[in-house]
Amino acid sequence: MTRIVIVGASVGGVKTAQALRNEGFDGELVLVEQENIAHPYDKPPLSKFHLTSGQDISAIPLVDAGSMDSVNATWKFGVAASDVDATNHNLVLEDGSSISYDKLVIATGARARRSPWGEGPGIHVLRTAQDAEELRTDLLPGRHLVIIGGGFIGAEVAATARKAGLSVSIVDPLPAPMSRVLNMEVGDIFRSKHEAEGIEAYFGVGVDGIDRVPDEGVSKLVRLSDGTVLEADTVLVGIGAQVNTEWLNNSALMLDNGVVCNEYLQATEVEDIFVVGDVCRWQTGETTTRLEHWTNATDQALLVAHNMLNVGDERSYTPNEYVWSDQFDWKIQVVGHTGAAEFHIVGNTTVGRFAVIYTGGSGEACGAVIVNWPRALVKTRQAVMRNAPSKTLREELIALDSKLAKHV
Ligand code: NAP
Repeated sequence: MTRIVIVGASVGGVKTAQALRNEGFDGELVLVEQENIAHPYDKPPLSKFHLTSGQDISAIPLVDAGSMDSVNATWKFGVAASDVDATNHNLVLEDGSSISYDKLVIATGARARRSPWGEGPGIHVLRTAQDAEELRTDLLPGRHLVIIGGGFIGAEVAATARKAGLSVSIVDPLPAPMSRVLNMEVGDIFRSKHEAEGIEAYFGVGVDGIDRVPDEGVSKLVRLSDGTVLEADTVLVGIGAQVNTEWLNNSALMLDNGVVCNEYLQATEVEDIFVVGDVCRWQTGETTTRLEHWTNATDQALLVAHNMLNVGDERSYTPNEYVWSDQFDWKIQVVGHTGAAEFHIVGNTTVGRFAVIYTGGSGEACGAVIVNWPRALVKTRQAVMRNAPSKTLREELIALDSKLAKHV
């Protein structure tokens, strides 16, 4: 019987297992996961509603109990993989045991980048359910939360904590939240929204250090590079992620800030190993790409399942980028390649229903950010997939917007 072993039971690994069964794989499936959990859970809610919901992770399952049964796998939770012997098709686990495989899927993802200013009580990162659990106990109304990093984690937790009655400050050396992805001007729309909701924004300023002052009622002082000192009860450090590849350092796999693979997501120069999700660095033309998106992991999972089971009919991977974020009453949806210098806004950023359309080098709509506007999202996704002219999409959305305005 053929055995497929999957390392990592978060979205990439679990969706690969499901897809294998859906494609008709009837061999043995083993999933190895270092987190000691009873059931795979979904990570996007951790920085959103789940953080202050008071519920445990059984409320945010990645797959429901019935689907988990139908995957019909052996789940090994609470044990990390520590090496791969690719020649002998053997996965080594940290407890000293090993599992032989016919095919192996690496879906070990990434972890939160640690705080360079020291760690300890009241200084948090957020990536796992346990991180969320620890942060939650410090998110009490009336307290002051300082968030270092204005990326997706920082912006989402700021909104969640503010809604829960905390005072919140965000610090980032970049001039606006999420501006690395969206560009400075578009990021500024989100900075204005956060400020209007009462967030204290320190953009364009770095952090020099965090000092503990245990006896003065305030537990931490966050020192900024412009001399400002913020008194914090709690600090969240959300400064990006690091891929989980150290366990592969002695293996034959090629590592380069991710596991390097070809366009079919097969690991370079080794047989029968595939890579899915945040840890996957795949070949795209002359270069390689890695993406940290939930939808990228799910799309790659489907493709890898197909490619493992259909030798000779492999498909190459082309991402269809999509990210969503919930911040206050804004449902933010990001499609395609964003951040281009040329962009146009349709709708109303003050009211909070608008689209930002980015224009690529050939005048095409290459990406967009949509806020609270589902019909615009549908049109935009189609246009971006077709490389439709940006101007045409803009005209369609302007027409849609004026129709909506008439009904208000
Ligand atoms: P992120 O999106 O990469 O943002 C990190 C931010 O922290 C960046 O603006 C970064 O600036 C800044 N930063 C880096 N070093 C810093 C420092 N020393 N002081 C202050 N700021 C600093 O990462 P994240 O927000 O931590 O999220 C981690 C991962 O989870 C990302 O892959 C993210 O996409 C994903 N995630 C996604 C969602 C979603 O899709 N809705 C939600 C949560 C998390 P530089 O860019 O200049 O380094």
